[in-house]
Amino acid sequence: PRFAIAIDGPAASGKSTLARRLAQRLGLVMVNSGAMYRAVTWKALQENIDPADSAAVVAMLDRISIHCGETGMTSTITIDGVDPGDELRAEAINSNVSAISAIPEVRTLLVDLQRNYLDHTSVIMEGRDIGSVVFPDTPFKIYVDADEAVRSARRSHVGEVDSVAKRDAADSERKHAPLVVAEGAVVLDTSHHTIESGVDAAIEILKQ
Ligand code: C5P
Repeated sequence: PRFAIAIDGPAASGKSTLARRLAQRLGLVMVNSGAMYRAVTWKALQENIDPADSAAVVAMLDRISIHCGETGMTSTITIDGVDPGDELRAEAINSNVSAISAIPEVRTLLVDLQRNYLDHTSVIMEGRDIGSVVFPDTPFKIYVDADEAVRSARRSHVGEVDSVAKRDAADSERKHAPLVVAEGAVVLDTSHHTIESGVDAAIEILKQ
């Protein structure tokens, strides 16, 4: 039977790296759900739609076609046949994605696409609401956290311009599917872990 491992946490907590390395060790497909919210944001900005104009964003959803899949072990996404690639990491996306992800219709659409993965494969999925909303029944839930200072340092190390604290506040305070520690999730603080020791700790959690 197929299963999902849910990895949630705030921005730059180390959850993407952890999920990717865990997926490699366990031989599972790793799905980055944040890329889906980023891709919808990318499309809205391309069409000059104000991310705060939720009616315009919702109208856009009816016009576009989003396709999610995977190549090898990594999730892929195209919108109207185009893969936005590295553009998903742009500053304009960082600063607008929380407005887009707060729109309930956007979430409904993307949560469906996320669940569809289980139709053909088991997954490790990372995001904000994977354990709480997307796969609430999975026994495998980890909430990854790290000190605020550690998270900011990690982000600037990668060379990205991102106001992590502002995005986390928006993601935690929104009305629909806010970032929470899901029921049954185990908190893994990566502040003082190396990548490898963090993966080891995650595997111990999953064995329990
Ligand atoms: O994970 P990443 O930082 O790339 O996510 C980008 C944004 O997408 C988050 O700040 C959040 O607004 C949104 N998101 C979400 N739910 C998820 C994953 C991401 O709302 N499951």
